[in-house]
Amino acid sequence: MNLVFFGPPGAGKGTQAERIGEAYKIPQLSTGDMLRAAVAAKTDIGLQVKDIMARGDLVSDDIVVGTIGERIAAKDCAGGFILDGFPRNVAQAEALDVMLAAKSLQLDGVIEFAVKTDILLERILKRVAESADNRREDDKPEALQYRLRVYEAETAPVAKFYARKGILKTLDGMQEIDAVTADIKVFLATL
Ligand code: AMP
Repeated sequence: MNLVFFGPPGAGKGTQAERIGEAYKIPQLSTGDMLRAAVAAKTDIGLQVKDIMARGDLVSDDIVVGTIGERIAAKDCAGGFILDGFPRNVAQAEALDVMLAAKSLQLDGVIEFAVKTDILLERILKRVAESADNRREDDKPEALQYRLRVYEAETAPVAKFYARKGILKTLDGMQEIDAVTADIKVFLATL
């Protein structure tokens, strides 16, 4: 099963991708995690993206498309994968289609987690409060507001791209975590 989990910062896609990845034995591929690891390891890419990420902007398509392309080619993705945080604009979605087609693969489903903005803000502020020592630069209030604007401008149109292909499923991401997981499983059973 090749899946995309899609939604604004704080929508819960990372939490759900981890749960579903474990349940279905497929890896969760988070571009945010990969980029944070590159920043921590001070690789060339890490040095290039550090400031961009801290202010909440998107890093270049070349970097993320290249990173995901290599990752999808790895052996552990042979049985499927969950993309978490990618694609984040229509150009990335198109590049993903090309990469998958080259391997005779396609996406089976795109799950969108719908959450109202005030709830997103509440959740991320809670994340900040709970991880005071290990705070993400981009969870600071100014960067967070900016990330939400970037989401609306660049990422939200990706939902229409997949809706047109008939593979978008929008779920209520404001429910309890277990209820969202249950909804995802019901959807996956239809694939
Ligand atoms: P996330 O952990 O998914 O919220 O991502 C954290 C940050 O990493 C984002 O705010 C971007 O700066 C960068 N990032 C992650 N995924 C992408 C992507 N697909 N395209 C561009 N930038 C990304």
